[in-house]
Amino acid sequence: MKRLTILGSTGSIGCNALKIAAMYPERFTIKVLAAGRNVALLAEQIDCFHPEMAVVLDEACAGELEKRLSHHKRVNIVYGEEGYTLAATYETVDLVVSAMVGAAGLIPTLAAIDAGKHVALANKEALVMAGEIVMKRAAAADVNILPVDSEHSAIYQCIMGHNAEDMDKIFLTASGGPFLNMPADDFRQIEPGDALNHPTWQMGKKISIDSATLMNKGLEVIEATHLFDISHADIEILIHPQSIVHSMVSFTDGSIFAQLGMPDMKGAIAYAMSSPDRLPIGQPLPDFPGIGSLTFDRPDTDRFPCLDLAFDACSTGETMPAVLNAANETAVHAFLDQRVSFEDIAGVIRETMTHHTPFANPGLSDILDADKWARQAATNEIRKRVI
Ligand code: NDP
Repeated sequence: MKRLTILGSTGSIGCNALKIAAMYPERFTIKVLAAGRNVALLAEQIDCFHPEMAVVLDEACAGELEKRLSHHKRVNIVYGEEGYTLAATYETVDLVVSAMVGAAGLIPTLAAIDAGKHVALANKEALVMAGEIVMKRAAAADVNILPVDSEHSAIYQCIMGHNAEDMDKIFLTASGGPFLNMPADDFRQIEPGDALNHPTWQMGKKISIDSATLMNKGLEVIEATHLFDISHADIEILIHPQSIVHSMVSFTDGSIFAQLGMPDMKGAIAYAMSSPDRLPIGQPLPDFPGIGSLTFDRPDTDRFPCLDLAFDACSTGETMPAVLNAANETAVHAFLDQRVSFEDIAGVIRETMTHHTPFANPGLSDILDADKWARQAATNEIRKRVI
């Protein structure tokens, strides 16, 4: 029996992780559920899974949750940063599903690692900001970081059973998002609703916008460099609109391994939760004759400049990836609030990165300072551009 904490239980990944846990009650028990503000959904999840602890964003949310759960006697409700750390380090937990969105996931993920918990990692922002620190601490604590991102899960599965030094290159596939074939001139008319409408994946708002700008693929490149100890120069992005090949790895003898499946995150989440066992979760197989052809193309970095920004940040290293991440989060929120245009997202990130002097060999506090600085710099940049 695996005992779980789900950080971000009310999100797209968190809900899917709970669906898998519900399918296999003899394998998984939920000890802690941690959400942000969605108290109504969290209360339903508590009714269903009976965790010992529940975490919400602040005292007001905790009060609201308490009212909704007056009939539950045994749930310990906590909140805020301290609450998320308690959730991540909960004594009887074996595996923490790290599925909060954004930089907020970094500290609880590190806390889980330091407490010796294995981590099923969806929160890619933690690796983008502080990949070296996360991986070093995981090695020191002898815990597994199991990738939840479908591309990284694919790579993880492709390299299993091979010698790490025989890996040559990673082909990271990308659906291309909703604007893959849109002419550049039409980009200025993009509304948040258009960008949230992803053609193949059902995801939370932030990652949906990241997929539309291709920043998501850039973040994934940085994530892959840390997870698989490979240079960004050895990672190639392939636009693959069918989203059936989840990624590929080539080896020194010219062999290429790929992992395929339907575009449904439940497969990758279930594997991170149960690896090395494979769980039947009712996934249909792709209808290959119906699909016809699987296509691969190079990304257009003129229309999607975020990809180059991410490669630049990765190549600079130090505190630059944290700055990229914070500027991106700030710009995406401003776009969702209709304060800046879709095209401004890349501009805000570029300007923020231009004004940043990277801090060499950063420790955690340097990274958190860079994150804070970048949010302010990006906010100033957004003010200049408000529509
Ligand atoms: P969602 O927006 O759907 O969910 C985010 C979760 O995080 C919610 O439970 C939300 O709580 C919680 N949350 C948000 N802000 C805070 C905060 N400041 N403190 C604590 N909790 C917070 O996101 P996704 O599930 O789509 O994505 C989660 C992570 O997984 C991201 O890092 C994303 O990049 C990654 N990922 C997602 C994929 C997907 O298919 N969705 C695929 C691969 C990776 P509430 O709603 O209660 O406020």
